[in-house]
Order: sequence, then C-alpha cells, then structure tokens
Amino acid sequence: MQSTMMRVPLSLNHVLERGGVLFPESEIVSRLPDKSLRRLRYADFHRRARALGAALARLGLRKGERVATLSWNHYAHLECYFGIPAAGGVMHTLNLRLAPDDIGWIASHAEDRFLVVDDVLLPLYRQFAPLHRFERVIVVPFGGARVPQEFDDYEALLEGGGDFDYAPHAEDDPIAMCYTSGTTGRPKGVVYSHRSTVLHSLVASLPDNWGLSGRDCVLAVTPMFHANCWGIPYGAVMLGAKLVLPGPHLHPVDLLDLMQSESPTLAIGVPTIWLGMLQAYESEPGRWRFPPGLRTLVGGAAVPEALIRAYAKHGVRVDQGWGMTETSPVCTIAYEKPEFRDATPDERFKRNATAGVPVPLVDLRIVGDKGVAPWDGKQVGEIQVSGPFVTGRYHAVDDPSRFAEDAHHNLWLRTGDVGTVDPHGYVRITDRTKDLIKSGGEWISSVDLENALMGHAAVAEAAVIAIAHEKWGERPLACVVLKPGKQATPEELDALLSKSFAKWQLPERYDFIAEIPRTSTGKFWKAKLRERYRS
Ligand code: ADP
Repeated sequence: MQSTMMRVPLSLNHVLERGGVLFPESEIVSRLPDKSLRRLRYADFHRRARALGAALARLGLRKGERVATLSWNHYAHLECYFGIPAAGGVMHTLNLRLAPDDIGWIASHAEDRFLVVDDVLLPLYRQFAPLHRFERVIVVPFGGARVPQEFDDYEALLEGGGDFDYAPHAEDDPIAMCYTSGTTGRPKGVVYSHRSTVLHSLVASLPDNWGLSGRDCVLAVTPMFHANCWGIPYGAVMLGAKLVLPGPHLHPVDLLDLMQSESPTLAIGVPTIWLGMLQAYESEPGRWRFPPGLRTLVGGAAVPEALIRAYAKHGVRVDQGWGMTETSPVCTIAYEKPEFRDATPDERFKRNATAGVPVPLVDLRIVGDKGVAPWDGKQVGEIQVSGPFVTGRYHAVDDPSRFAEDAHHNLWLRTGDVGTVDPHGYVRITDRTKDLIKSGGEWISSVDLENALMGHAAVAEAAVIAIAHEKWGERPLACVVLKPGKQATPEELDALLSKSFAKWQLPERYDFIAEIPRTSTGKFWKAKLRERYRS
C-alpha cells in the first residue's frame, strides 16, 4: 500500500510567499550606519526579495550558482536570504570578520559568481578582490554613499522590473552555503537545501525550542553570515514575527538603546554579547529597562550559570542552545522537560547551564573509547549527531574523518565536541577535540597559528591553546620554544602573524618556554598545557 499524500517538495519559496501574503504589516527594522532606523513592511520585503530574484535571473544566474553576500544584519541581507534562492541561486554568506586572504580563498573555492556587498564594506572587498573575480559586484547603498560606477547598484537592479517566476526546484536543491573553520587546512563549505532549511525552521521554532510566534519581536544579534543567523530569519518570516537587525552597531550601549525603542521579546547572540550588555546595563542603573518578558537565546559557546542567574535578577530568561554550522545549526536546547515542571529555580538554572536536550529529528549519541556510551551523565565521549538538517559531507572536499557510520549504515557527524548525556537526555559539553579557539563566537585555528609561528626564523616550536577569558570566552595563548641562541619578541611574532591573520586572531599572550610537553606518540600534549595554564 502507498500513502495517498501529495508529494509537494518542501520549499523556501513557500516561506517567502507565506510571510509576504499573510503578514504584510509585520515589520523589519534595520539600523543603518548613521544609527537611524529603516522600517520595512513584510509586504515590501516580499516584493523586493522577488525583485532581487528577477534581477538575478535577468543577469543570467543559473540554477545552483553562488551569489556571495558581504553584509551586516539588515533588510537587504534578508532579501538575499530569500531572493537568491527564489532565482534558483545559492546564497553564500562571507564572514566579514575573517582576514581578507581567507575571504578571497573561500569565495574562490565556492566559485561565487556574483557578490552583493554593503557600500560600507567596499574597503574590505577591495582587499580580497585580487584573489577572486566576481562577474558582477552589486553594491547595497546601506550607508547612503553613491555607488561607484564600476559596480551595480542594488536598488537600481531591484527597480529593473519584469515578471518573476520562482525557479523550478526539487526539495533537495541547494539554497545557501556557509564555510566553517577547519582544525587544519582551509575552511570547509556546508550547503543547505530547501528541505533542510524548512525542516530546521519548523523544528527550531517549536514552543520548547525558540518558542517563536508571529507575536514575537526578534532582535538578531547573531551575524547573518554565521550559520544563517542560526536560522532565525527563516523562522521569523515563516511566522510573521517582527525582525530587528542591528546593522554594524553591536556595542552593548547601542543594543540596549535599540531594545528601548523596539522592545524585543526574543534576542539571540553569543555569550560575549550578553556579558557586555549586562555590564553596561548595571553600570548605569535606571538608564535602560529590559523589555518585559524578554527571552534570550544564547549559544555558540558555553553559557555560564552565573550569567543566566544575573539576567534572571533583571527579569530576563536565558535559554541555551548548542549546534554548529554543519547542523543548520540548532541541535539541542535547554528547557524544562515535563518531569521538571515543578523544578525549583536553582534546578532550572542548572538545567539551563547545560546544552539541553536534542530537538526533534536530531539523533544524538556519545562515542567514547569503548564505543557508544550510555546516557548516565558520567561517561564522556565525542558527541555525534544525525538528522535531516545535519550535513553528510562538505562541499567539494573529502573529509571522512568527520563522519562515522553505524551498523545500520546510518551516517553520523562527528562534532568534535566532547561531553556527557544524563539519563534525562541533557547534554553537557565538557571539552573539544577540535584544535580551535572560540573567541567572541568566532573561530581561531590553533594549528594555523602554530604553523605561522614556526615560520619565524627564531622559533623552534609553537603550541597554541585556548585560555579562558572573561569577555571573549576564550583567547589564544601561544607557547613558544625558541631556537638555541635566538631571540624573538611578542611584537615581532605579532607582526609576522598580522600578515595572514585578523587582528583579533592574534595571541592574547606569548609564553616562551623550554619545551612543549608531548604525548607518548610524540604529539603536542595540549591537554597537559591547558592544565598548566588553567588558573
Ligand atoms: P555557531 O557558533 O554558529 O553555533 P560554529 O559552527 O561556528 O556555529 O560553532 C559550533 C561550535 O561552537 C560547536 O561545535 C561547539 O564547539 C561550540 N558551541 C556552540 N554552542 C555551544 C554551547 N552551548 N556550549 C558549548 N560550546 C558550544
């Protein structure tokens, strides 16, 4: 027997149509570089996203071709989220925090055909332009500057008119891609489909997860170039929620001002943002009030229980989520399962300081030295996940080390995160096997720093580890062994690294040591080093 249900492909275009037709009055508020606010109704956003689709089709964009974005969080970036896939293209968000060489390499690896870039980011574009030739560079006059003649003007393109029809597609066709830092070697591309995005939006929006509804106002601080802004733009448009996009103004005072005028009910970002905001808030009592009923969704790095408690004092609820670019990204969210309905506030704080429980459609297991470990809250292993919005490979590179197959031939993503799961299904992240440092929500590769340092004539060996940092979560510490009789100063090493790393990626500190501890197989024994510098 066969089911009688229609085989309608899941489609992001349905989400755009739904948003525009059902919620024409919902608002998208964007903060411009001059700090003024630009308000756009969903009806206009819908028209403009379709106009972008039409313009890209006119420019000859073919199905599956990449259109890169280099943009802050604002209306035009949101239009790209929907307008590029509407034309059959793949939106490739470039991370503007990376060093120009890396951005250029990534654009070239993804074979991006067109670029949509904010006028205020043209100086950054010019730094990596020699590394990759985009056929068209479309400039968003976000900062109000006149678009230089050699580029296309985004607004003029949108006014180009013409009929628009969504490009035909299957549900597994790609709509977006995002590169994620590799431990070694270059970043790797993850490609999302219509299907994975729609399923992720539905699941992540559920009451026990984001608890998102059309009555919400969402302040998205998480960059739109970061794992699709955790999927919030898709979920918000699907449900008609008001979206508040802070543009380039991420200073705590700016965010607090924005909260006063827009009264978000849900705000998302990494712990560094919330820590800074709390300090600003408490340093000037009475200047701001957190909007009543505000919830925040914090993730991307471990959320300290102290932070959750501190916000509770101001009536703000902090929910923690865990996930990765490879997983769309939401995999687990902390909330009170039914058996904890009567939990005391203390118990709730403790639960919210875990990574939470797996969301629907995501299977999660931990694999230790002796294979799959039980959920007893004690046994530690690598966290592996499987599901319809988890990547099964990387774009154009083979990396079998990141995947595992079980006896039933199911594929699992090896996350590189290590932790336990308790008998109730709450995941606790305890460590990371990935040799990466997460500073303010952005990655720094320790291996890349080490290789660059070892390129200095006076350096015999270098090992880079993460050290805890109050503001940034983690910062790199470089342990350097100098060659006999040779000298190097931190300033010299910084100067060398500055050639290939962004400023914020440079080590917080250098420690010149006699030797780097090694494991029995002769590898750097980073666990030992981490232990040494823990305090
Ligand atoms: P994003 O930061 O957008 O979630 P990335 O792919 O850049 O996506 O980073 C994912 C990694 O960030 C995870 O594999 C994990 O190491 C770390 N991470 C994310 N959320 C948490 C969390 N709640 N607790 C601890 N680490 C986290």
